[in-house]
Amino acid sequence: MQVNSDIIHTLSSAVINQIAAGEVVQRPSSVVKELMENSIDAGATKIDVVVADAGRTLIQVIDNGKGMSATDSVKAFERHATSKISDASDLYALTTMGFRGEALASIAAVSRVELKTRREEDELCSKVDIEGGELVSQEFTSGKQGTQISVKDLFYNIPVRRKFLKKNETELRNIINVFQQIALVYPSLELSLSHNGTVLFDLHKDNFRQRIAAVCGAKTSKDLLPINVDTTLAHISGFISTPDSAVKKQPSQYFFVNGRYIQHPYFSKAIALGYDRLLPSDSKPQFFIYFDIDPDKIDVNIHPTKTEVKFEDEQSLFPILVSAVKEALASSCSIPTLMFDQEDKIEIPVAVTDFAKIVTPKTGFNPSYNPFSGTYKPKEAKTDGWQNLYESVKPKPDFKEPECEGFIKPDEGLKLDVECKFSGFVYGGRYIVCKSQSGVMFINIYRASQRIQYNSLSNMMVSGQGAGQMLMFPEILELTPVENVVFKQLRDSFEAVGYSFEEFGATTYKVSGVPAVIEGGESISLIKDIMTDYDENAKDISAVLREKLLIKLSVKSAVKEVTGVEMAEKLVKSLFSTDTNAYTPDGLPVYFTVDADDIKKHIG
Ligand code: ADP
Ligand code: MG
Repeated sequence: MQVNSDIIHTLSSAVINQIAAGEVVQRPSSVVKELMENSIDAGATKIDVVVADAGRTLIQVIDNGKGMSATDSVKAFERHATSKISDASDLYALTTMGFRGEALASIAAVSRVELKTRREEDELCSKVDIEGGELVSQEFTSGKQGTQISVKDLFYNIPVRRKFLKKNETELRNIINVFQQIALVYPSLELSLSHNGTVLFDLHKDNFRQRIAAVCGAKTSKDLLPINVDTTLAHISGFISTPDSAVKKQPSQYFFVNGRYIQHPYFSKAIALGYDRLLPSDSKPQFFIYFDIDPDKIDVNIHPTKTEVKFEDEQSLFPILVSAVKEALASSCSIPTLMFDQEDKIEIPVAVTDFAKIVTPKTGFNPSYNPFSGTYKPKEAKTDGWQNLYESVKPKPDFKEPECEGFIKPDEGLKLDVECKFSGFVYGGRYIVCKSQSGVMFINIYRASQRIQYNSLSNMMVSGQGAGQMLMFPEILELTPVENVVFKQLRDSFEAVGYSFEEFGATTYKVSGVPAVIEGGESISLIKDIMTDYDENAKDISAVLREKLLIKLSVKSAVKEVTGVEMAEKLVKSLFSTDTNAYTPDGLPVYFTVDADDIKKHIG
């Protein structure tokens, strides 16, 4: 047996750093986060982030912070090199974003880094080049106070990691998310982000509300209610959305603890509970909640990317959050108007002026009223001309049923036999009742009309007749930077269905043409609707988009009532002129039949 069979050896520091980098540097956005946090810790008031190719080739962060000495500028890249803590007890009194001394070492291990930094008291900048964690050179040059760090060719030495990066759009979106998380909690900092030469954000010194507007759009910030609670456990401040500005998809939901963005599903539940029944079940509130808390009452150490934080008093903070939300909603006079669709607005017996005095929000509305069930309000049966309508279809004494015995034959795929006479009438404003081969058929007019519109629109699109119409007065499509990322992916598909766009600023477009089948005024809301629903994993974006557009257009252009028996006949004829007629494009049944056998069973 051989003596020299030891198999254990210590890994080289380069390999150790690469492994550790896996935890800290998962993707380009992690680099952006770590570098921006370092700039904040260095007391910067202005931070510019420049990214190329979604961070694959370049991530550059330039700050006006305190800078580093020449020695520190090299030492900063050593593992566990930090200026922020000295012993373990410091961990419980953290006031900085970073503390592990891992970020720069990890980033440098998997990229080519160029650092240029100068302190106020130094004359020259120290410029350091590091490749794959190895120091290549250090020089001295002139330059401004602060630090500029360029991270190039991320994962150039770990092809596997590079391969696991997502599409550029996704990586860029992650970068934007990280940037926003920082921007929202440091409104006093001047921050900018640009990508491939395009400025995505250019944020000036703001207050919190202005910053939310600059980051999430003026619409979101307009509908916010302030929250402010001071307890011995924490100071909680921020904003929640009014219930009517809750959104179905991609809500802005942010928790921050001592300047750090965190995710906290348990606290999210508390917020939702605070809204109680004010929110429709499929909507989500938007919120920006800032906790100021004694650092020794939280543990930020549990997650390498530090988006999870453990609170010592989680259980006690939960009810505090719930009642903070309730209070904000109650003290806003907007409750009576904010719950309901403006279209079908109902009268609520509440004295708006006295509302602020009411303590609990529940008293302000009728909890059993569900404004979201059945937005369609059935009309009273029309009495106008009703007799005539009935007369016209009532069999005259000498009337003989046509040979074909009704005009709808289910066994023939419910196609209409156009030769046969229409014998139907409109009931309750919203239904057509008519004879089918097997009994009596009830047709929902609105749903039937949606189906008909959908069928003809999709024919038009297939045949290319669904082309665009130019707008006399172009509309302006204003997007947030995040929406713009999505829009760029969808633009071709929108154009394929008849839209035309012209660039009109970095995230603004002039809509000069719309699909011929819609009114100009609705074009912007349609685009936004579709973008919110957009699933980036969808295989064929254009097919999905076309389908969604068709559905939305057919719902918008459908009629809700028919005005006479002729129109009813026309509707029934077009409905049954194709085989696809049983369901709306959304999948709701269009008609149902009471069988003759059934009628017989009941009344002989
Ligand atoms: P940590 O932030 O956990 O201390 P890092 O690896 O991110 O670890 O940074 C190491 C050290 O380098 C920091 O503690 C800080 O002293 C210094 N440093 C990093 N970035 C900057 C910067 N932008 N300005 C000044 N000093 C910095
Ligand atoms: Mg750091």
